[in-house]
Amino acid sequence: MKPTILHPGITAMMNEQPKQQGISRRDLLASAGATAAGILLLNEVSAADNPAPHVGDRASSIKITGFKTYPVGSKTLLKIETNQQVFGWGEISQLPPTVSEPLMQSMFELLDGENPTRIEHLWQKLYRAHRDYRGGAFMLHTIAGIDMALWDITGKLHGVPVYRLMGGPTRDRIRVYPTPKAYKVPAGGPRPASGNPADIEPLVQAVKEARERVGKDGTVMFDAHCCLPPPMLIQFANAIEPYDVLWIEEPAVPGNIEVFKRIKQSVKVPLASGERDRTIWEVIPYLQERCIDIIQHDCAHGGGITQMKKVAVLAETYTVPLAPHSIASFIGIAASFHVTASIPLFLIHEYYSNDCGGTLKKSWEVDKNGDSSLPQGPGLGVEVDEAALAKMDPTKFKWPGQKNPDGSVADY
Ligand SMILES: [Mg+2]
Repeated sequence: MKPTILHPGITAMMNEQPKQQGISRRDLLASAGATAAGILLLNEVSAADNPAPHVGDRASSIKITGFKTYPVGSKTLLKIETNQQVFGWGEISQLPPTVSEPLMQSMFELLDGENPTRIEHLWQKLYRAHRDYRGGAFMLHTIAGIDMALWDITGKLHGVPVYRLMGGPTRDRIRVYPTPKAYKVPAGGPRPASGNPADIEPLVQAVKEARERVGKDGTVMFDAHCCLPPPMLIQFANAIEPYDVLWIEEPAVPGNIEVFKRIKQSVKVPLASGERDRTIWEVIPYLQERCIDIIQHDCAHGGGITQMKKVAVLAETYTVPLAPHSIASFIGIAASFHVTASIPLFLIHEYYSNDCGGTLKKSWEVDKNGDSSLPQGPGLGVEVDEAALAKMDPTKFKWPGQKNPDGSVADY
């Protein structure tokens, strides 16, 4: 006969432990005859026998059994399969599939047979598996795809959107750009360091025109794309002050925090960066040195949902909002949206509609004001037409690159 349940701790004690720390099961049974007596014993029960190890959960028996990859241009869509007919999708972004597919094949050794709901544990296992390969774009972009798929599985298993697993929604809508009222002016390729009026005036004019187009209630941003040499960027930034730009993006190439500090000391326009700063360890110097006003973390570049949430928490402590960078498909956007939906400090989300040739179906809508609803349904909230995906002829990845007029290599 099953004992009366007074408290999970008492029940566990009755089922499991014969005697520990001076309290026997017989003692407990005698005491548990009266509810009041049972309640009085709760503290001692907790001390004697923590019930946590005895509480099974719905996710305890699920295991990773396999994966499939589908290359689509510079992206690889990743499906992780389990022993419970639940599967998850992720996106390995901006890597040649000739790299991402064999890398995934190799890293699957670390995932095979693991419980996919142990997301933090598996992130650590992947990231720290080989001390010589830790970090870097190739590893982090691949871990991001895996991490998204694990969150998708876990959300589906519990029947909730991923943001419910991260504390629930902190907002009802996610503001996105570009829209007619929020426009980012591009730098348009490498610029010389000469700083002549002919170098700077066209960029200033483009910002001025964008401000006139969106009006006083619109938003203008400028993407320096790391291709304006710092002295010229400072000249330009000071010239666009009258146009109330929300940010200058990527004012310099990541790598030397002193360059960002120097620019920050000379520029009043807010500075944003982060699409190539992938982890909390790469982000924290900008915050500590107060040289970035907005963090543009990219979920698909930066280790997925797990790392993006941590970056957001780190930025929150410095009152620095996230304006997530994204050039991902609907899968990568969904992953980033779920984090965005669960954090307190957020500005605006980059968003380009990409359904990978009609193979992905999203669960949110962007309205005419540029406000997106939150993803719906369990997991990431993206349906994948796998049969259609398998039939797609993937375009070949091409390595980009930029040159200066004199033939030397340029940042872009
Ligand atoms: Mg950018």
